Amino acid sequence: MALAHNLGFPRIGRDRELKKAQEAFWKGELDEAGLRAVGRELRATHWQVQKDAGIELLPVGDFAWYDQVLTHSLTFGVIPARFGAQDGAKPTLHTLFAMARGVSDNCCGAHAQEMTKWFDTNYHYLVPEFTADQAFTLSWEQLFEEVDEAKALGHAVKPVVIGPLTYLWLGKAKGGDFDKLELVDRLLPLYDTIFNRLAGQGVEWVQIDEPILALDLPQDWKNAYERVYNILQRAPLKKLVATYFGGLEDNLGLAANLPVDGLHIDLVRAPEQFPTILDRLPAYKVLSLGVVNGRNVWRCDLEKALGVLRHAAERLGERLWVAPSCSLLHSPVDVAREDQLDAELQSWLAFAVQKCQEVAVLAKAIDAPQAPEVLVALEQSRAVQASRAASPRIHKPVVQARVAAIEPADSQRQSVFAQRIVKQRAVLDLPAFPTTTIGSFPQTASIRLARRAYKQGQLAEADYIEAMQNEIRQAVQIQEQLGLDVLVHGEAERNDMVEYFAEQLDGYAFTRFGWVQSYGSRCVKPAVIVGDLSRPKAMTVGWSTYAQGLTDKPMKGMLTGPATMLMWSFPREDVSRETQARQLALAIRDEVLDLEAAGIRIVQIDEAAFREGLPLRRNAWPHYLDWATEAFRLCASGVRDETQIHTHMCYSEFNDVIESIAAMDADVITIETSRSDMELLAAFERFNYPNEIGPGVYDIHSPRVPGKEAMVELLRKAALRIPAERLWVNPDCGLKTRGWPETEAALVNMVAAARELRGDGLVVGSKG
Ligand code: GLN
Ligand code: ZN
Repeated sequence: MALAHNLGFPRIGRDRELKKAQEAFWKGELDEAGLRAVGRELRATHWQVQKDAGIELLPVGDFAWYDQVLTHSLTFGVIPARFGAQDGAKPTLHTLFAMARGVSDNCCGAHAQEMTKWFDTNYHYLVPEFTADQAFTLSWEQLFEEVDEAKALGHAVKPVVIGPLTYLWLGKAKGGDFDKLELVDRLLPLYDTIFNRLAGQGVEWVQIDEPILALDLPQDWKNAYERVYNILQRAPLKKLVATYFGGLEDNLGLAANLPVDGLHIDLVRAPEQFPTILDRLPAYKVLSLGVVNGRNVWRCDLEKALGVLRHAAERLGERLWVAPSCSLLHSPVDVAREDQLDAELQSWLAFAVQKCQEVAVLAKAIDAPQAPEVLVALEQSRAVQASRAASPRIHKPVVQARVAAIEPADSQRQSVFAQRIVKQRAVLDLPAFPTTTIGSFPQTASIRLARRAYKQGQLAEADYIEAMQNEIRQAVQIQEQLGLDVLVHGEAERNDMVEYFAEQLDGYAFTRFGWVQSYGSRCVKPAVIVGDLSRPKAMTVGWSTYAQGLTDKPMKGMLTGPATMLMWSFPREDVSRETQARQLALAIRDEVLDLEAAGIRIVQIDEAAFREGLPLRRNAWPHYLDWATEAFRLCASGVRDETQIHTHMCYSEFNDVIESIAAMDADVITIETSRSDMELLAAFERFNYPNEIGPGVYDIHSPRVPGKEAMVELLRKAALRIPAERLWVNPDCGLKTRGWPETEAALVNMVAAARELRGDGLVVGSKG
């Protein structure tokens, strides 16, 4: 008897009902009762959908207003003082949303909690803030209420909580230097209370998520595991510790031997841990195998998964559970909702609802291999695998041959940087401290309106092009007036830096309802890489040459790099990520060459997601950095020495990857630094970055107009570490979320700052 269970279901609703309700509530268009009703209905629907799919133990606690880590902070009373929960008053839904979104109020404003990525997903959680004297008190009843709610509906449930060590790991120690691990003894009694209350509600199993067990953990955190779970052991219900997003590796023995009743492991990300775990797991324990990918959109190869499960069942018998690899929070909701996919593609896809069905049928196949629904499902799965294996829309011999023919020289510029830069300077004739921007200019309402009308067929192509050309013309005019040195066309024609290119490449597909929560009410709908990728025709050359025709200043061509394209799409599972990156790189390389041939002298290839692609485990970094760096170089290396390649990255934690960034060998890199006050420069103490660099001199995420002096200050600081002749002056990211007035005001000051620096005489022969 293998048991089918689920680690978590997406909360947003198949039509993003939760997003809509929350946003209406924030605007005051929906009252709290109305909002709560939407939540209740979504939970009821989701439990029923999972049950109908054949899931036997349903998750509770996966629903959250805004974010599940935030729910835990409320539950534990980890509410920073600025949100005003004094006098032991219980927090309300308003407290919760204030923590998530901040309060802008003249008298008592409070900034929101920091948000950061949930492991290596595109989901963002709200970072708990701990103080040295942090107290933990049970302050939020949501989990218990939802358990009652599910029970009232007649469901068998398994509450899901984030484990104490993972919860502490995710938070930040504020105000003074202390070790947050020391808080664990204060936190544990609360877990005990929670577990006892759940047991009192008739709960048999609780799922305790400890995904940090798939990370490189410091020794003191490893040591804490055994002690913590020895204490938690007393609570009178069964505990399943869930790990995901990677293999347990050196933590495998530790995880296997925790004094709990079951362990979940991710066999999609780390299939290699399977045989070992069977040998290491104590004989009393349940083993939950995550064999259905919770992070992607492809149907599971049931036969392959079943091979593993059968083997496990022989050893485990009743102690085998079947599950998705991780919570389905990271997959879209229901592929049946898609109404415009062709039947073949649709038959290849599985979203959360379908993944639950896959889990259920796999469990069933263990117990009743001849059951009709098992036979049908296996037959369908075989058919899907066969049609994929033979499909000409996946396998393109021309693309594969091109990838196979890549030679080392293709990823190598003709000359070294020192020689290239001399030629580039001669062609470009730029002043010292050249000024530029990152690519996009404000996406005004009129731009969005025109784009939408065009997409919906209400605006003729010629009219759309004219509208965009008007935008470009204005952007060029403004940049010339501002006195910027290297111009951009402004990216008015782009909705999104990945989707814009994906739509023009062969091998991508798009869903209509494939939304995944990114943070709060924000959802993203990543493009799907279906098959071998290629570029049928030039993608940006028309816009860039139009823009260049309006000015004598160099106009940057603007592209998105392969690692970023890949990271922000649903990738294929039948070929490696590096193969997909190479295919993307060849397509982008062709675009770079077309831009060059059309007279564009500078091409920027954005790699916004380069760093976030880093694997969770250090030992996997070198491989990733190798192929991601090589893919970038493949894009960039076809051009002549005179053509200047830029790249852009949106974060400042470079210290640990600066060698790889240098190995990308872009002539110029622009990066974020302003928010961290040039923290990045620390990296340059250790490593001498060889090429040109534009450390962002102001934060585009804030509407505040930066003063000239502050930017001069930052640049002088930078010039202490980086030779002045290699410094560029630019904002720290694209300006599309800003308005024009603040953008112009900021750039006026930025250009003035550059001019002041030219007067410093830091660069010999500077023309100022
Ligand atoms: N060129 C893009 C822009 O300016 C870069 C966006 C990004 O780095 N996220 O919008
Ligand atoms: Zn950026």
